[in-house]
Amino acid sequence: MKKIMVVGGAGYIGSHCSRILADRGYEVVVVDNLSTGHRKALDPRATFYEGDIRDFAFLDRVFKKEKVDAVVHFAAKSLVGVSMKEPIDYFDNNVNGTLVLLKAMVANEVKKIVFSSSAAVYGEQKVLPITEEAIPNPECTYGETKLQMEKMMKWADIAYGVRYVSLRYFNVAGALDNGEIGEDHNPETHLIPLILQVPLKKRPQISIFGDDYPTPDGTCIRDYIHVVDLIDAHIKALEYLFAGNKSDIFNLGSENGFSVKEMIQSAEKVVGQAIPQEVVSRRPGDPAILIASSKKAQEILHWKPRYTLDQMIETAYKFHKSHLNGYEDK
Ligand code: UDP
Repeated sequence: MKKIMVVGGAGYIGSHCSRILADRGYEVVVVDNLSTGHRKALDPRATFYEGDIRDFAFLDRVFKKEKVDAVVHFAAKSLVGVSMKEPIDYFDNNVNGTLVLLKAMVANEVKKIVFSSSAAVYGEQKVLPITEEAIPNPECTYGETKLQMEKMMKWADIAYGVRYVSLRYFNVAGALDNGEIGEDHNPETHLIPLILQVPLKKRPQISIFGDDYPTPDGTCIRDYIHVVDLIDAHIKALEYLFAGNKSDIFNLGSENGFSVKEMIQSAEKVVGQAIPQEVVSRRPGDPAILIASSKKAQEILHWKPRYTLDQMIETAYKFHKSHLNGYEDK
């Protein structure tokens, strides 16, 4: 069976990737500096190396020891707001980190990478749903770093034959069905975990960031995708590369948009109680509507998201209920 290096495998999405790869019989090597990831999220079946991807000697040692067939790359800082205040740190961690990773891959003849990109590369677009043909126009440093990382891979492909699949995600949510691992960010900024903190009595109410957007109920619309569906796409992308296909870029979303108010209603249904809410001012940098077209991933990778919005909230709730203080509980 193939051996996969999951870079950033202790984080929210990377830890789900490690589990599901191992479940499907892949050998898994995790590299993570534990700056935002959690040791307790690591899959016990994976071989873990603690270190920073900006450290070439460290990566070179791991590649020489493990002889992996491909890399799945999740290691990046990902908070839009912080990226605007600390752009140099974001460029160093994300862009420089990917540069060194590619250098170590080329030096060790590892020539396949599945990359965690973001809808943030698009910025606000006039034509919805957004397709891969849209001209990227990032409006935050985070999105800009993801775009630069994609561009490095493009030129590394042309020069060294490093084949890549870049997956541009929209809003990732949910957790493994058994609630064993999930989303634990500090500070938490994402809508679903914050809504669920209300029934878990960790906050009195959820703040809605603006209800005067040009949408039917005035609140922002986003395209949510379950983390297990997302990882299924990564594994399909790996198989696509192992089959010898060319480098490419795919959106991953559900093609369904839900407003902030609809998200709260769905959570009220799932938890069986009213969730107090208040409208506050807009959060800077939030586009009114972000919806992906995932047609290309459906056609070429044969990928189809299966989880419903209620299931995203249900699985997230299961994790948060059993990890009231995140991984610190266990
Ligand atoms: N949001 C909100 N209240 C919160 C957190 C988020 O109204 O406490 C809104 C936010 O403005 C956006 C949507 O929920 O329209 C999703 O935000 P999130 O931070 O989860 O993801 P993003 O779309 O920024 O990647």
